[in-house]
Amino acid sequence: MYSLMERLYPLTRSITGNGTRQTLNIIKEYIPIIINEVPTGTPVFDWIIPKEWNITDAYVKNSKGERVIDFKKNNLHVLSYSQPVNTKMTLEELKPHLYTLPEQPDVIPYMTTYYKEGWGFCLSHQSFSGLKEDMYEVVIESTLSQGSLTYAELYIKGETKDEIIFSSYMCHPSMCNDNLSGPVLLTALVEGMIGKKHRYSYRFLLVPETIGALAWLSRNDNNLASVKGGLVITCVGDSGDMTYKRSKQGDAYIDKVVEKVLRDTGSPHKVIDFFPMGSDERQFCSPGFNLPMGSLVRTLYGCFPEYHTSADDLDFVKAEYLEDSLMRYREVVEVLEWNETYINQSSKGEPRLDKRGLYRAIGIKTNTKMEEAILWTLSFSDGQYSLLDIANRSSMSFALIKEASMQLVEHGLLKTKTD
Ligand code: ZN
Repeated sequence: MYSLMERLYPLTRSITGNGTRQTLNIIKEYIPIIINEVPTGTPVFDWIIPKEWNITDAYVKNSKGERVIDFKKNNLHVLSYSQPVNTKMTLEELKPHLYTLPEQPDVIPYMTTYYKEGWGFCLSHQSFSGLKEDMYEVVIESTLSQGSLTYAELYIKGETKDEIIFSSYMCHPSMCNDNLSGPVLLTALVEGMIGKKHRYSYRFLLVPETIGALAWLSRNDNNLASVKGGLVITCVGDSGDMTYKRSKQGDAYIDKVVEKVLRDTGSPHKVIDFFPMGSDERQFCSPGFNLPMGSLVRTLYGCFPEYHTSADDLDFVKAEYLEDSLMRYREVVEVLEWNETYINQSSKGEPRLDKRGLYRAIGIKTNTKMEEAILWTLSFSDGQYSLLDIANRSSMSFALIKEASMQLVEHGLLKTKTD
């Protein structure tokens, strides 16, 4: 994940353009995503796919010919979606086009002007303060033209049509936690799932935030009935504790699954209710869709000072945190795949466990927890409780209850409930 992030880091991504296309083409070397293009001008609900933006260079040069702001050094220096510019101006004339973060004077802020034509440069407040009166050459070699918005999709067909969506976005330029951590985790998650049998069907989306999610939703408006839940993947590479932002329903199946996964880690974590700011859960959970989708992150966007600045770089995100987050996502899939409602085949009183060799197996492991897990599973497998319910009710880990159920199934003591 980290090395993929290093490859993707330098590319100039935006909501459209070649940087985004290149990003997806690199990801396609790892997983077989299908890349789609939605032409400029296409209406998507209340929005319209904007012109495609591409950029090759941008700078502000002083009268000595020195680049005092240089896009080639950091692509955050250009206000994303800036119109082309080639002019000379005084510092006073230039200032309204310069954006800084005075409260964090040594970082370059990330700013965009997607839906309002304009141009500008972003720079550290420190560099800004060092700018002298001069006649500056101001150049932005960009194009805004008829083109398309690019997004990618991958579908892993399961035994049922019931579908789980994992969605992330890839429209931010050189920033790691928000944003590259999402696509690289999604890539690794897919790599681990591809070629394996699954109960659910899984859909993976890599879209430019907001407009890309809307584009996908508008193209799939009539196929959403099978969506049983999903997660938006973002901010999964920082050192903070895991945070789960619930779906709008708040008690959807996906919420129960993720919350159990986090509880089972025994590590500090937060669970917060849905709020209509943030990432693409805003679109997926909007009234016309109301899909049960939450978002599993580490430190929530906006809650770390590096957010949307040049400080959200390759040093801020660490491989070990990406790995830890990936484990949680894999556990979510594990619970989704293994959660089952069983019927105890020996429901009138407890079955003799020793007679079936189950008790001895437990004895060897000296694992009384397993014995308890078996008793919990037998007692609650009356068709009303799923393994997830039993794990919650018993305060045991899902993994342990699952293991108990596997042993009981093997010994014919449990059978899957058939509706
Ligand atoms: Zn962002």
